[in-house]
Amino acid sequence: MADGSNSESGSRRLLGRLKAALAEPAEGQERLDRVVRLIAEEMETPVCSIYLFRDPETLELCATEGLKPEAVHKTRMRLGEGLVGRVARKAQPINTADAPGEPGFRYMPETGEEIYSAFLGVPIQRLGERLGVLVVQSKEARAYSDDELYALEVVAMVLAEMAELGAFVGEGAALKPLHQQAVLLRGTVGQEGTAMGAAWLHEPRVIVTNPFADDSAAETARLRDAVDRLRVSVDEMLGDPRHAPDGDHRQVLEAYRMFANSKGWMRRMEESIARGLSAEAAVEREQTRARTRLEQVPDAYLRERLQDLDDLSNRLLRLLTGQGDETGAEMPDSPILVARNIGPGELLSYGRTLNGIVLEEGSVGSHAAVVARALAIPLIINARGIVQEALNGDQILVDGEQGIVHLRPEENVAKAFRDKIAMQAKAQERYASIRKVPATTVYGPTIALHMNAGLIADLPSLKPSGAEGVGLFRTELQFLIRNHVPRRDELAALYSRVMDAADGRRVVFRTLDIGSDKVLPYMKREHEPNPALGWRAIRVFLDRPGVMRMQLQALIRAAAGRPLAIMFPFVAQLDEFLAGRAAVHDELEREERLGRPLPSKVEIGAMLETPSLAFSPRRFFESADFISVGGNDLKQFFFAADRENERVRRRYDSLNVSYLTFLEWIVQRCEDTGTPLSFCGEDAGRPVEAMCFAAMGFRTLSMRPASIGPVKHLLRRTNLSEVREVIDEARGSGAQSVRPAVMEWLRAQG
Ligand code: PEP
Ligand code: MG
Repeated sequence: MADGSNSESGSRRLLGRLKAALAEPAEGQERLDRVVRLIAEEMETPVCSIYLFRDPETLELCATEGLKPEAVHKTRMRLGEGLVGRVARKAQPINTADAPGEPGFRYMPETGEEIYSAFLGVPIQRLGERLGVLVVQSKEARAYSDDELYALEVVAMVLAEMAELGAFVGEGAALKPLHQQAVLLRGTVGQEGTAMGAAWLHEPRVIVTNPFADDSAAETARLRDAVDRLRVSVDEMLGDPRHAPDGDHRQVLEAYRMFANSKGWMRRMEESIARGLSAEAAVEREQTRARTRLEQVPDAYLRERLQDLDDLSNRLLRLLTGQGDETGAEMPDSPILVARNIGPGELLSYGRTLNGIVLEEGSVGSHAAVVARALAIPLIINARGIVQEALNGDQILVDGEQGIVHLRPEENVAKAFRDKIAMQAKAQERYASIRKVPATTVYGPTIALHMNAGLIADLPSLKPSGAEGVGLFRTELQFLIRNHVPRRDELAALYSRVMDAADGRRVVFRTLDIGSDKVLPYMKREHEPNPALGWRAIRVFLDRPGVMRMQLQALIRAAAGRPLAIMFPFVAQLDEFLAGRAAVHDELEREERLGRPLPSKVEIGAMLETPSLAFSPRRFFESADFISVGGNDLKQFFFAADRENERVRRRYDSLNVSYLTFLEWIVQRCEDTGTPLSFCGEDAGRPVEAMCFAAMGFRTLSMRPASIGPVKHLLRRTNLSEVREVIDEARGSGAQSVRPAVMEWLRAQG
C-alpha cells in the first residue's frame, strides 16, 4: 500500500489478509498480536499498536509491533492524555509528521517510542461505541497519506465489528466480551416507580456478520438495490396523506429523501466497498461518521438532520440484512421497552404490556412521558447509551425514584431490587385492606382522595384504588395521539365512556392543556424562546376558540343529563377565567337551543398554577366553582425552576417554608369565599407532602391511583393538629424547610 499506486487494491488486500487472519482459530490476545503485525507489514511501517479501553477513562496498550513488548498491558493513559488519549476523546484521527512537537504529546519511556516521529492514530469505534485507538508510527518525519489514513480507519472499523462478534475475547485478551457487562446508566425520571424485566428494543440492533467484501461488484450491486428500495419506501411515505404538508413528520421524511438521493453519501459508501468493506459495513461507516459529528455539532437543526441520517441508515441496514422486521419475534415476559425516542401513538399501542420504559432521549413533558404517566409505567429518559448497550432479552432494572437503570445487573444488585419490589407488593396488599375506608385522620377531618387520569384505560383503577372520583382528567392525550384534530362526536363518545366507567363518581375534565412541550402533531409549531412561559393551555384556547368550543360541546353532550365538572388549566388572571366560563355558558345555551339534553349540574373551576392567580381579586374566588392547585406548574413558577430541567427540578423542597406559607395563603383565600379547593400535582401523591398539605388545610387531594393507598395509610395514623404544630414550630425557628422537623416527628411516632 505504501507504493500508493493503487490505494483501493492495497486496502482490499489488507482487509483480505485481516479476514484470513481472523478466520484462523486463536485466542483473543494472539489475534490482536497477529493483527498489529499484519498491519505493520502491509502498511510498511515499523510500528503498529492497539490501545483498548480498560474502563471508560483509561486506555491500555494491548498489542504492539515495533514498540517494546514489555510495555504491553503496562502502558496506560487517561482519556484525553497524550496523542492516543486525544484520538480517543475526540473520536477523530490525528496524523502528524512531528509527534513530539504536537500539543499534548506525552512520551512513554517504557515503550521506546521516542525514536518515532510520524504518528497516525484512528479511533476503533462502531456506531458511537468506542473501544480504543489504532496507531501506526514511523521514524521519518512524514505525514501518512490520505489513502493510508482511510485504510487505517477502515481497518479500525472492521476491528470494532469483529470485536462486536467476540473475535478478541478469550485467554489473556484485554477486551472483555461486549454487551455482557453490568452497566449502570443515570437518566431523568419521567414517571416514578420501580420495574424489572427483560429489555425489548423498539428498533432492534442490526448485527453485521460479515464486514468484508468478497466480491466488490456484487456488494455494490446489493447496496444500489437496497438504496433503490429505500428511495421507493421514502417516496411512498411522502405520498401518504397522513403526513400533513407542514407537519414535523413530513420535514423528517423530506430530510430522508434528501439523504437517500445524496450523491456524496452514495459515493462514499461505494468507495468503502471498493476498499474491501461489505455493503453493510460501508453503511455503518457512514453512520459512525454521522454519530461522531452528532456529538460535536451544537446546532440543533443540524443535529436533527444527522439524527435523520442515522435513522435512514438503520432502515437501509434492515433492508440489506433483512433483520429487524421479523414480525414473529416474541416479546419477553415483563418487557422493559428500550428506545431512542418513541411517539405517543406507538407507546399506546404497547399499552400496559410494558413493565417499564427507558429512553435515550426525551423530556419530562414530551408526549411519550405524558402517555407513560397516564399508563403509570415507570419511565426513565435521557439514559444516554442505553440503545447502544442493551440487547433484546437483557435483564434490566428501572429505578424510577433515583432515575437509574441497571442493565445486566450483578446478582447482588438484582436481589436487592427484587426485595424492594416484594416489599412494595406487600405494602400494596396492606393498602388493599383499607381500600374501602375513608382517609380519616386521628381526631381530625377526613381527606377526600381522588385520582388523576388521562385515558379510558385508567378508569378500571378507580375502584381498586379506593379513589372517590377523578380529580383531574387530562384531556390532551386524545389530541396528541392522533394525526388530526379529533372530531366532536369521537370526543363526546369518549368522555361519555369515561363518565360511564366512573359510575356516578365525580370526574373533573381539564380542558386541553397544550403548548409548552405538548405540541400537537398537526399544529403549526411556533418557535418560542421559553415555551413553559409561552402560548399554552388556556391562552391557546382563548386565542383559537374553535377547538375550545368543540371540546366544550363534546363535554356537554357526553354529560347529557349527568353532572359535569370542567376545569381550565393555567389561568393567570381573572379575565381569562371569566372568558372560559362565558364560553361554557354560550355552549350550554347553544345546546339548549338545539334541543339537546343539558347536564344536570355544571361546575366550572380553574387550576391555580401561576402565583399571580393566588393574588387575584376576590371576584375570581367567588366566580370559580372550585379551584385545584396544579402543583407541578405552580412549584416551577414559584421557585423559577424548570420542572423539566434535571439540574434544578429537585433543588427546591416542596416542604420549603415559603412554598407552604404560599399554599396556606391559597387555603385562606378559598376559605374566605367558601370555594372548594384541591391539590392535584404529583406532590399530592407523596405521603409526607400530602400529610403536610392536609395540615395546611387542603381537604381534597388528587393523585396517581397507586399513591392513594400509601397516602391514606399515613393520613389515617396522623393527627393533623400535631403535624401543624411541628410545621409552625419549624417555621417559627427560621428553618428553610419543615422537612427535617416533620421527618423527626414521624420517626418519633414510629
Ligand atoms: C400540574 O401542573 O400540577 C398539573 C397537574 O398539570 P400538568 O402536570 O398536566 O401540567
Ligand atoms: Mg400543569
